[in-house]
Amino acid sequence: MSVQHFDKILIANRGEIACRVIRTARALGIRTVAVYSDADKNALHVSMADEAVNIGAAPSRESYLVYERVIAAAVKTGAQAIHPGYGFLSENADFCKACKENEIVFIGPPVGAIESMGSKSAAKQIMGAAGVPLVPGYHGDDQGRDVLKSASDDMGYPVLLKAVAGGGGKGMRQVWSPEEFDEALAAARREAMNGFGNDDMLVEKYLTQPRHVEVQVFCDSHGNAVYLFERDCSVQRRHQKVIEEAPAPGMTAELRATMGHAAIRAAQAIDYEGAGTVEFLLDSDGSFYFMEMNTRLQVEHPVTEMITGQDLVEWQLRVAAGEVLPATQKELKLNGHAFEARIYAEDPDNDFLPVTGTLSFLQPPETSANVRVDTGVLQGDEVSVYYDPMIAKLIVWDENRDKALQRLTRALRDYRISGMTTNVDFLYNLANSEPFRNADLDTGFIEKHHSDIFHVSEAELEQELPLAALYLLLEQERNAQLARDSSGDVTSPWSEPSAWRLNEPYLHKFELCVHEQVYEVSAEQLGKRGDTRYRIHCKGKTIQAQGSLAGSELSANLDGYLLRASVAEHNGSFSLYTADSAISFRLVKPDLGDLDDAAGQGGLTAPMNGTMVTLMVEPGADVKADEPLLVMEAMKMEHTIRAPQDGRVRGFYYQPGDLVDGGAELLDFEVSES
Ligand code: ADP
Repeated sequence: MSVQHFDKILIANRGEIACRVIRTARALGIRTVAVYSDADKNALHVSMADEAVNIGAAPSRESYLVYERVIAAAVKTGAQAIHPGYGFLSENADFCKACKENEIVFIGPPVGAIESMGSKSAAKQIMGAAGVPLVPGYHGDDQGRDVLKSASDDMGYPVLLKAVAGGGGKGMRQVWSPEEFDEALAAARREAMNGFGNDDMLVEKYLTQPRHVEVQVFCDSHGNAVYLFERDCSVQRRHQKVIEEAPAPGMTAELRATMGHAAIRAAQAIDYEGAGTVEFLLDSDGSFYFMEMNTRLQVEHPVTEMITGQDLVEWQLRVAAGEVLPATQKELKLNGHAFEARIYAEDPDNDFLPVTGTLSFLQPPETSANVRVDTGVLQGDEVSVYYDPMIAKLIVWDENRDKALQRLTRALRDYRISGMTTNVDFLYNLANSEPFRNADLDTGFIEKHHSDIFHVSEAELEQELPLAALYLLLEQERNAQLARDSSGDVTSPWSEPSAWRLNEPYLHKFELCVHEQVYEVSAEQLGKRGDTRYRIHCKGKTIQAQGSLAGSELSANLDGYLLRASVAEHNGSFSLYTADSAISFRLVKPDLGDLDDAAGQGGLTAPMNGTMVTLMVEPGADVKADEPLLVMEAMKMEHTIRAPQDGRVRGFYYQPGDLVDGGAELLDFEVSES
């Protein structure tokens, strides 16, 4: 194959990966064409590209998945090659063929390789023949119930039923005993039929504590192949990766080479070209088994880039242009340790369900040679229902795992995102947990260490709640100070931080919600105005607290124990990052003083993050006290918001179907004069 030079490529993707590819293309002097859906016309990837072509409506099956439109965009703009990114069309053999028919280079493997790996069972047959170790199992065409059952009985339980056309963890069922077999098979088949239109199954021995270790391979069209070491992706929720690292902890040089060579054999067995990932399960005894090969660039490729100093997108472009691999196996050196944490708009407290919203505030940590942020969104952007809710990938590097982990937790703590629930606190707690620090990894990590990671222990709250209250008090004090400074009238009663509580000037009461549990905290201010010493009461204990606030850094003294925390405010809630955990609080009933009882406005804010279900009166309606005004749903439960007293509903701020943040004002309510 002759070496071709690309002047212009099209990126058939969106979000962070489109931006990532554009960055490298630009560095190589290659012009770029973006494609975008109606929902993405103002997206970052569009503004970064030299040209952009609209390819349809927001749902991806009407735009990013319609390969005819992608090809038409490439033809129209004269792009010589298409980079598919990951997801969408990246493993679509028909798309790959259509590129060829239109004389456009597909930046990826030959179509035959995609086809061979498209079926999990066909892939296993090929790999078995090439001498790549497989999890013991049945990968045959005979799909009779008895055949599958006796294969399972012979193997011994537990076994795993897997849809041959599966992906994303769907169509998989564990079977722990022969009695469970039929029910599990029926369920797995149903899920597979719904998800992939194919209910063929393979059966595998279910490994109870494996690690997910994958090898990055690269092949060129001249017969050269290398492996760029491995990544450990054992930390998963719903069989999907959340934190990846390279190299895999505890890997010996010998095992690394053995797995690397097995991965190369796998790639060569299907005449591979370009970037590929061979996924293995690594058992506790050091045996490893082929799971699948992904014939594209992976989400987690940056950790490999960080430890090898290579740009894998540049490699892809060069290989696709017909060049030889940029480095030989001997030239590739593994250096240091890297982590990637996937920052998602999702709610870890609600089974990691995705959430949507507007990124009203977005401040990633400062980037450097050690800290990299790959993202496709900017402040003000929407995380919509249409696409993957990943906001960014945070990648860190340092010379060893401990140091890299320290970088990771620091960077997570500095990540500021408002407008929606994210998994940042969860990632921080996970990265700080003892088992993660000790690299005690396997694919059941999150379930196994649930209590360590979620920090729900009541004992911990005895310290965290006063700290949260102290923060709120200091914040209130700081605002009052600002008001005093700007009004210039230090004698005004309204400059008094506690002025609205004329009867009990120094008593503050909060209701703080943690993990959907509400706690009452009260505090007395000691000394006079401006004093930052308090006596805080919560959970039946009294604590002497004192502190100061500088920017978002809180210094506290709780009964003589000195500690620091960093505070991140989101709308209606805030997270406290201490040295070893992050806890998010929501102020249920703010310290409104007399207003609270007088106007009875307490009930007109959203009691928690949720969805608006129904509006029960028309805007402008006069209502009686206690009349239902609207219904919200949160955590699968409905909550009715009622009129606090007689009055008029002047308008609603949300419509049915809208997501509402806890604490947000729901409607404009006017209390009747009488
Ligand atoms: P998918 O293509 O749906 O993502 P995979 O075959 O890649 O499915 O498996 C996804 C995850 O399921 C793996 O990372 C691993 O955690 C778990 N898994 C898969 N096969 C086995 C097995 N035989 N034993 C134990 N866990 C497995």
